[in-house]
Amino acid sequence: MKITDGIHRIGNGLINSYLLGEGSEVTIIDAAVPGYWSDLPGELAAMGRTLEDVRAIVLTHGHSDHIGFAERARRERSIPVSVHELDALLARGKVPNPSKGTGPVRPMPLLRFLVLAIRLGGWHIDRLDEVATFGDGATLDVPGSPRAILVPGHTPGSAALHMPDRDALFVGDAFATVAVTTGQTGPQIAPFTADSAEALASLDRLTGIEAHWLLPGHGEPWTGGSDAAVAAVRESAAAATMGRR
Ligand SMILES: [Zn+2]
Ligand SMILES: [Zn+2]
Repeated sequence: MKITDGIHRIGNGLINSYLLGEGSEVTIIDAAVPGYWSDLPGELAAMGRTLEDVRAIVLTHGHSDHIGFAERARRERSIPVSVHELDALLARGKVPNPSKGTGPVRPMPLLRFLVLAIRLGGWHIDRLDEVATFGDGATLDVPGSPRAILVPGHTPGSAALHMPDRDALFVGDAFATVAVTTGQTGPQIAPFTADSAEALASLDRLTGIEAHWLLPGHGEPWTGGSDAAVAAVRESAAAATMGRR
């Protein structure tokens, strides 16, 4: 699905993988679930590209629903994969998921998410044998040259990727616009977050960033600006806290 010129998305919006075209080359932001591998050629064709044009996969963090087809792409097509250095061990399956559980759950949306994930091969995801790393503030040497902004909390090495010339900010799971566990929409802390307080504090790093397209790992694009998104996440977190009292 085309989001805007040069940015496409695979999936129905629940688990996102983005394709970023730059000249004749493509960078994939997040590899979602293994089943998207078979959707890749068609989506690349819609951009006038093929698998041969994919130069890099960049992961916003090391969770399994972002690693998806990355190891396969690396092994079969020698496409390099990178992640922030603090999530490298997670992406390689060398440390347990730091997630503190799901947060609130509603059975039907959660079931829908699990059925979708399993159908798309999410039952078993190959962790990466090798992954390159980048640090906070790095401009990545991949098509599109996104700049990494460390936003720890969801995982220690969660990174947002900013592309000013594309008016785009890939936020990974720094926040989500749908909670796969409840079906609730709107900017909010993503389920499976390791440290919600840290994740909320990290949003300071996204305020003031100019980008029309805020593109999350889960949910539809947010086009209301980063400051409004951050305010909405904080509002939703405050409401959730009130609800628990
Ligand atoms: Zn995640
Ligand atoms: Zn995720």
